[in-house]
Amino acid sequence: MKNYNNMETGYINEGGQLKSKNGQKYVVNQYCRNPEPGYYISKSCAAVYIILFLVMMILTALMTYLLLVPSCALDNSSNGTIYTGSIWSPISNHEEEAHTNGDGVLSDQAKNDDPIVIEDEIEFPEGWKPIHYDLLLEPHIENATSRGTVDILMLRDENVKDLKPIVLDITEIEITDCKVASNDRNDIDLGLDYICEYGKDNDSYVINLKKTKFPINNVTVQLEFVSKLGSTLTGFYKGSFMNEETKETSTFVSTQFSPIDARRAFPCLDRPYAKATFKISMIRPTAKKLSISNMPIESIEVVRPGFIRENFKVTPKMSTYLVAFHISDLKMGKTIENDSSLPTIKMYAQPEYENMTNFAFNLTVESLKFFEKYFDIKFQLPKIDMVAVPDFGFNGMENWGLITFRESALLAPENTNKSSSIAHLQRISRTLVHEVAHQWFGNLVTMQWYDDLWLKEGFSTYLHYVGTDAIKPEWDYFKTITVYEFNQAMPKDCDSSSRPISFKVRTKSDIRRVFDPISYSKGALIINMMRGFLGEAAFRLGLTNYLRKFEYGNAVQDELWEAMTMNARKERVLDESYSVKEIMDSWTVDSAGFPVVTVSRNGTNIILKQQRYFLPHVNESDDTKWFIPLTYSSSRRVAESEIPEHWMSNKQSEIILEDMVSEDEWIHFNVNRTGYYRVNYDQLSWKNLLRNFKSLSDVTRAQLIDDSFALARANLTNYDVPITFGIFLRAYPLDYLSWWSFANGLEYVTNMIRREPAYENFRTVVRYSVKNAYEELGFDEDPEDTDIDLLHRARIVNMACQFGIDRCTVKAQLMFREWIANKVENKIAPNLKATIYCITLREGGSQEWNFAFKQYQETTSASEKEVLLDALGCTQEPWLLSKYLNMTISSDSSIRKQDGSRVFASVAKNIVGTELAFDFLYTNIGEIAEYFGDGFSTISKMIDSVTTFMNKDYHKENFQRFAEKANKLGLIAIEKSIKLAEIEIDKNIFWRNHLYTQLKDNLDKAVVDLRLTN
Ligand SMILES: [Zn+2]
Repeated sequence: MKNYNNMETGYINEGGQLKSKNGQKYVVNQYCRNPEPGYYISKSCAAVYIILFLVMMILTALMTYLLLVPSCALDNSSNGTIYTGSIWSPISNHEEEAHTNGDGVLSDQAKNDDPIVIEDEIEFPEGWKPIHYDLLLEPHIENATSRGTVDILMLRDENVKDLKPIVLDITEIEITDCKVASNDRNDIDLGLDYICEYGKDNDSYVINLKKTKFPINNVTVQLEFVSKLGSTLTGFYKGSFMNEETKETSTFVSTQFSPIDARRAFPCLDRPYAKATFKISMIRPTAKKLSISNMPIESIEVVRPGFIRENFKVTPKMSTYLVAFHISDLKMGKTIENDSSLPTIKMYAQPEYENMTNFAFNLTVESLKFFEKYFDIKFQLPKIDMVAVPDFGFNGMENWGLITFRESALLAPENTNKSSSIAHLQRISRTLVHEVAHQWFGNLVTMQWYDDLWLKEGFSTYLHYVGTDAIKPEWDYFKTITVYEFNQAMPKDCDSSSRPISFKVRTKSDIRRVFDPISYSKGALIINMMRGFLGEAAFRLGLTNYLRKFEYGNAVQDELWEAMTMNARKERVLDESYSVKEIMDSWTVDSAGFPVVTVSRNGTNIILKQQRYFLPHVNESDDTKWFIPLTYSSSRRVAESEIPEHWMSNKQSEIILEDMVSEDEWIHFNVNRTGYYRVNYDQLSWKNLLRNFKSLSDVTRAQLIDDSFALARANLTNYDVPITFGIFLRAYPLDYLSWWSFANGLEYVTNMIRREPAYENFRTVVRYSVKNAYEELGFDEDPEDTDIDLLHRARIVNMACQFGIDRCTVKAQLMFREWIANKVENKIAPNLKATIYCITLREGGSQEWNFAFKQYQETTSASEKEVLLDALGCTQEPWLLSKYLNMTISSDSSIRKQDGSRVFASVAKNIVGTELAFDFLYTNIGEIAEYFGDGFSTISKMIDSVTTFMNKDYHKENFQRFAEKANKLGLIAIEKSIKLAEIEIDKNIFWRNHLYTQLKDNLDKAVVDLRLTN
């Protein structure tokens, strides 16, 4: 029974029917309306069915109807019985089931009777664990299905006494045959008695075993099934691209299983804790050039003319979300084989992109070498493939040994016309080094459940800084964590919507939601904080011990804290009375959000207080407290390490440090911004820091600017502090980090006041502060420029053009016109393209827009396409913006699904486009939900970007109407995004009502004091 595999010789696929090649068995599941369990179809009957089937082929309309009736399955060998309920029919037409009539208007039924859907909690079936999967799949692109068999070796959990049913996860999978064989006693046929049936809502497949005289401890579940090849970039999905070599459309199939979509491709226990080994086989047409999976190919066999079967080697023990396979005509770019110090590395991309993989290839080689050394653990698989998938919902996915990317996150063109900006190269490394770090953190050791998702995401985000800093020293990259990640995490962690980083994930929507900046960016920052207070040596040793101890297994965060505490004690960096768990729990389990530490003076003493930072305004009665590592530098001393001199425990709301500073001395807390908190100062301390701005490090300067903007927004300090910092920056034209921080801080204020009278003085003040830097750096790049110079100039030019330094705008348009005149040679420097394109389209009309759109269609650079997509949303012509929005839901518009939210956001953040974008979303929500599916977060991103300028009560009323409509449509997956957006609007309304006037007064004063003219 173990060798049973009905697909050994392959299927003949006939228009959606299923037939084994030996002709003995016919499964005509869709045709049978009143199945009798265990019914046989004899050979003679089969012929009748075939004739009927051919008739059905002609009558396609009738067939669609027949396909929608409850299916059944027939079983001819075991004692088992298969019961099928009304299950998704693989070839059924989904559109017919939707509640919209296509143009997004609610149908009457949806308006009146749709109940509010409450999502079920995920169940955790006990009793059985999978050990090994033997999986064979054959995708059929033409009818969007995939047929397969899977043999799952399951072991009884010795801790569970009763004989429990075996429960497998499925989504839109039809099981056509189910058998269970015992492996307990090979010599005796145990004659297992069992019933196979679909679970609730067809979301699971349940095998109820009946007790026998012998104990049942080890069984093989054998299933035949049909799954759906999706088109929403999740599960096992299909797509296509224009093959420039053959000038034909080339189809591909690829996977995105994380977090819960392996169950769309094959029945499995689709949970990170259920690790098993996988032997994967794929059948494909020989005409396709590429077929890859997690492991290298072990053997190839011809299954029938024109089709081969590739059997891949058995994987190590791993979670289902890391399984991957891919069949296409992609071409191999750079590669390295037969290097004993490295696994085989192969890069894959569309034929015309194959020469764009060099940058990513080098990064792969270097990051693998780096992490092997850093963890002191070798990469575990014999090979690693890096694939630029032509349509991909995320940036990258760390599937073990087969990492998938969206094209723009992997490919860097090198010729002068299309070459990448430094910002783009950094984005590639942000994705790639993160995914490579996952091969250890996530793949080798996996979180037990999604409660601790942040462990893998936070660590990989943190580790990509460590890796990139070592591989690209010219980027001075590690310190950018203090600007970039803070700006990602804290704005999402400061209101009633924020959650503890480790929290109980109990529904499918919860699982998708935890892939957020809290898990990634806050995760990275509190790990950096832990590294700071433990010191590098204890931290690294703790990591390696943890990975070694749990390799090929799962862990929860407490097990990491244990490893860290042990090493901290060994290295004597942690007070005996503290444990890492006690400290870290205050940041990960006990609380959402983060503290603001307020520094005030009493003579030479310093008083430190902690309270929660909260928007729209701080709630004095909120008693949340954290275990805060306190590091400082002052006029008297420069901190030499990030190991704290003092702690404020989660029981203390105030501590006093004696004899720290005299009246004219400065003091600064949170050295190198390793602590995940903000610092506020009394007026004298702010003044002293401003006076000594020059003697502070670049990280500190950027930190003060960032904190001051955030504190002013929470009404904890006055807007004159960030405005003064901004004016001070005039004297620091080359301070890359501070300008970055300043630009971040301006963004929110700009959005809030762009339609207000205060904008005029605001623009004048910003122009005044940026003018020096713009003049110093100029518009043109210099061959002597470092990468940081290039990044910095791009930011300054953007600010200069955005805030209306005329020469900047004129120059940008001039360069764009030169490009229109000479299409073949685009002389615009890659680093300045984003600004120049956007400014020209903002100032121009349909001629510029149409030119840019044509370039978008024609360019062979994925990154250039993205820059153009962003710029197309900059036009001030409403009708062009409407046209552009409508393209996002039209499959023949050349806007790919993966870019839908990008296009939408580019319009939504344009002051002319924001209402149009909201109107579009409101009117078409049904259609949009249908088009993008709920697997990845396109609609959530759309909702997120639409609130940018909403700061009035009537905005909120409009938004609530949208929320009601989405609710009636039963769009559970976006429920959370809607709530977040509502909170965002409340925060904006509060800001407009309470802080606008204060900012305006400060700006008016600055204009008078500096004698500026508008
Ligand atoms: Zn990740």
